[in-house]
Amino acid sequence: MGHEDCIFCKIINGDLPSAKVYEDDYVYAFLDISQVTKGHTLVIPKTHTKNIFETPAEVSKELFERIPKVANAIKEAYNPLGMNLLNNNGADAEQSVFHLHIHLIPRYGEGDGYSPNWTTHTDDYTPDKLQEIAAEINQNIK
Ligand code: 5GP
Ligand code: ZN
Repeated sequence: MGHEDCIFCKIINGDLPSAKVYEDDYVYAFLDISQVTKGHTLVIPKTHTKNIFETPAEVSKELFERIPKVANAIKEAYNPLGMNLLNNNGADAEQSVFHLHIHLIPRYGEGDGYSPNWTTHTDDYTPDKLQEIAAEINQNIK
C-alpha cells in the first residue's frame, strides 16, 4: 500500500527506515533526517495527500488533532523555550517531499538554527485594502 515512489509512504510502510516518534491508525511521526534543532519532528497522515490544497477535511482533522499530542511529547522530553510549526506546499514554497507533512521545530533560543527570514510590507496594506483582500478570499471559501 501507499503512493508509488513516495518516500514518506515507504517510511510509513517500513520499506525505508526512520526514527519513529509516534504512530497510530491515522498518523506517523518521525524525526526529520535534517534536524534543524534537537527533536525536529515531521507529522504526516497515513493517507497519501500531496499538500494542504489536496487534503480532505477528514484527513486534516485526524492529522491536526494529533499535533498537540506530539508537540507536548517533544516539550516534555527536551523542555524547549518554544516551538514553530511549519508546512510547505508546492515547490515554490520550498516543499521538497510531496506527501503532506507538518514540521514541529522546538526552539532553544537565539542561534538555535531556525530562522523564518521573512519581510513584511505593512505600508502597502491600509485597513481598507485588508478588508478588500479578506472579502476576495472569503468569496472563494467552499
Ligand atoms: P519540506 O522541504 O518538503 O517541507 O520538508 C521535507 C523534509 O523531509 C526535509 O526537512 C528533509 O530533511 C526531510 N526528509 C527528506 N527525506 C527524508 C528521509 O528519507 N527521512 C527523513 N526522516 N526525513 C527526510
Ligand atoms: Zn506518500
